Amino acid sequence: ISTVIFSQRNYQRTLKLMGSRFDLTVVANDSTTANSYMDLAVNEITRIEKLISSWDPNSRTSEINKNAGIKPVKVESELYELIKRALGISKLTDGAFDISYASMDRIWKFDGSMKTMPSEEEIKSSVAKVGFQNIILDSVEQTVFLKLPGMKIGFGAIGKGYAADKARQMLTDMGVPAGIINASGDMNTWGKQTNGESWKVAITNPMNKNKVFALLPITDGAVVTSGDYERYVTFNGKRYAHIIDPRTGHPATGIISVTVFAPKAELADALATSVFVMGKEIGLDRINQLPKVECIIIDEKGNISKSSNIEIDKL
Ligand code: ADP
Ligand code: MG
Ligand code: MG
Repeated sequence: ISTVIFSQRNYQRTLKLMGSRFDLTVVANDSTTANSYMDLAVNEITRIEKLISSWDPNSRTSEINKNAGIKPVKVESELYELIKRALGISKLTDGAFDISYASMDRIWKFDGSMKTMPSEEEIKSSVAKVGFQNIILDSVEQTVFLKLPGMKIGFGAIGKGYAADKARQMLTDMGVPAGIINASGDMNTWGKQTNGESWKVAITNPMNKNKVFALLPITDGAVVTSGDYERYVTFNGKRYAHIIDPRTGHPATGIISVTVFAPKAELADALATSVFVMGKEIGLDRINQLPKVECIIIDEKGNISKSSNIEIDKL
């Protein structure tokens, strides 16, 4: 009797998707198998990007945006449901999270192209076009209508999390025993490493991004960190991060890093952004009301706050 002993390994691939860095890790028996799995994940993420990108003029999302104030647009049920869940998070966070924040991206640019602060007038006229209450869904027709001319939606704060979830789903459906989909800090993890140990997720120290603030074991579920140290602009010595309070049109301040743990990366992604906007007190209060969701907040003074049920001893 002969037995084949498979020795599994962690295989990794890094690539750029959705304008961001993705790191894929899968456990497989050999590199051919691992590569075919990773190809599937890449295809899935690329498919999602075509649906939700607001930069691609041919995406369904761009079609919705082009028809703002004009007419409802019929969409795939996948996009419809994603928008519906996004509206649910807007309600939960009193509008701190709002996919219609996107008309603000005409005035706040975090790619180095913005040389002066936008004027209060500019901010006022842009923020007038923001408001999730004006995203109208019709479940019978499966349409999305942005009521105000010039309104715009964007999935910058939820899309990478969603893509990570869908890629994970695709791989677990294929029987991949363990892996990590890391979409620039928006992670969905499952299973264990081949040496039997849990995956370890490092959270960057927001005060010094070359340092690790915490190393956390995780075997299943999502971890998402939103920090003000990745994309920001500085005016008069003050740092403005790429997260906007949709109610005021001003960048959120006070918090420098939020890490959210949740069963799904989509929720964790959206909530990390929300907590940034809501601030420490309201943020923790909201997170504590949600089952299976935890968070760690670091404010601009370096103070650390945790939600009530977090099981991390070494913080
Ligand atoms: P990261 O880019 O690190 O994943 P986030 O998940 O917090 O960070 O997403 C930030 C992006 O979300 C911004 O670049 C912008 O596109 C969009 N955004 C900014 N503010 C909001 C908001 N209040 N609600 C929804 N989306 C937002
Ligand atoms: Mg987010
Ligand atoms: Mg994100």
